[in-house]
Order: sequence, then structure tokens, then C-alpha cells
Amino acid sequence: MKRLYIDFDGVIIDTIPLLYEAFEKNGLSTDSDEDKEKRSKFLETYDFGEIIKDKNILNDSINCINKIIESKRFEISFLSHINSLNEGRVKVRYLRRHFKNITIILVPIGMSKTKMINSKDAILIDDYSGNLREWIEAGGIAIRFSKTLDSKGYKVIDRLDKILDMFDKNGEEIC
Ligand SMILES: [Mg+2]
Repeated sequence: MKRLYIDFDGVIIDTIPLLYEAFEKNGLSTDSDEDKEKRSKFLETYDFGEIIKDKNILNDSINCINKIIESKRFEISFLSHINSLNEGRVKVRYLRRHFKNITIILVPIGMSKTKMINSKDAILIDDYSGNLREWIEAGGIAIRFSKTLDSKGYKVIDRLDKILDMFDKNGEEIC
């Protein structure tokens, strides 16, 4: 079975705009390089429990993942960067409430997802191009998740169950 890794922020839960709001509320810019370190520090202590909630589910992601599980086409794992141990605990608790038997891999921020697992021939669905670029360089298959279907040069989906239209029962890519 083909291995499928699913990112969390900006794919399962729509955390990114909410984090941007939190940055702004705390007087931090969302994109300038000068605030980069301050944003990192902020995220180290930010309570992700405030935003990792069912009401912020992104494009029906939980139901889509259940559909992917039922298809039995992929060996699924969750693969998420974390800024703090507390963020990790919040994410694991949330995912375990919905999925009992799917592996969860937490990646320390500042470290490539490709350092945690063997990316070769595995699929990564992620909203961040930097992660996708590294994934391809390590021999993996990259699919970008974007609410607006902004591909940035990658194959792109805006709902997780669209992966079922891209790979057949043997995990081969449908052209
Ligand atoms: Mg993400």
C-alpha cells in the first residue's frame, strides 16, 4: 500500500488565518522578516487549544480522511510540525478523538519532515511549498493543499478526498 502523510495546520484544521489574527492582536507582523524571531517565540507559548477545534475543520477534512481510510488504498499517517510540547499534546488529543488507529508523527519546528521519515515514493499532502520542495528532493510525491487551488507549481487539491481521484487502487498515479 502507498504511504500517505497528511499535514495538520492549513490542511486538517484552518489554523493559519487564526494564527495570523493572534500575531496581529499581539502587535506582530505576519510576514516581515524582522518579526520572524518574535513570531517563533510567540508560537512557543501559544495555546493551540484555542484554535484546534471542530469548528475550524478545513473543507470537511475529518470526513474526507474517513473516506480515504474506507478506500483502503493508502497507509495513512499524520505529519505535523510543532513549536512546543504542549502544541504536540493538543494535536495528538484532537486527532485521537477522531482517529484511533492512525500513526501521528510530530516534527520539531526547524527540522525537515524528510528527516523524520523515509519520503521515498511516499505521498505528502501539505499546504506549505517549502515542505513539498524538500519532500520531492528526497524522492517523495508532493501534493499541495490550497483552499484557493493556488498550485504554486504543484499538483493541488482543496479537499482531502480528491486524492482518491489522483491514485488508483494500487496506489498508481492516474494521469
Ligand atoms: Mg501546514
